[in-house]
Amino acid sequence: MTGEDRATRLREAKARLRSHLEHRGLRSTRQRDAVLEAFLAADAHVSVEELCERVRDAHRSIGAATVYRCMGLFVQAGIAKERRFHEGRIRYEPGVGTEHHDHLICLACGDIQEFENPTIERLQDEIAGSRGFSVTYHRLELYGLCPRCKKIS
Ligand SMILES: [Zn+2]
Ligand SMILES: [Zn+2]
Repeated sequence: MTGEDRATRLREAKARLRSHLEHRGLRSTRQRDAVLEAFLAADAHVSVEELCERVRDAHRSIGAATVYRCMGLFVQAGIAKERRFHEGRIRYEPGVGTEHHDHLICLACGDIQEFENPTIERLQDEIAGSRGFSVTYHRLELYGLCPRCKKIS
């Protein structure tokens, strides 16, 4: 992702957050903005623990409870998406400026790769359609060893 893409995404996320807050009669705060910036600057699939560390580096006054509350709000506003992979802990990825994608997860080092395959998408729709099922969303997660970990083991 280029710096320009990041800037566009941040602007879009801020606009979406503002309208979400206005809808609820809330105002945006500097803390919320700081958490949003740290979230979008982090790698995709960041955990709350990792995010707290990042936020604390820049803003000593922001505690974990605030980060948790903000992330809940961002999910409601559609800015963040919650993911729960095998480890059970919640991870977040941006909900703006990203297309639908699925994941490859390394069980050894925890590396998370994204992929998108039109054939798989189409096949899923076909299977659901043939059974008269209409899909709201899907998750496809492939677990195994990444090339680096495969070499070591
Ligand atoms: Zn690995
Ligand atoms: Zn992802």
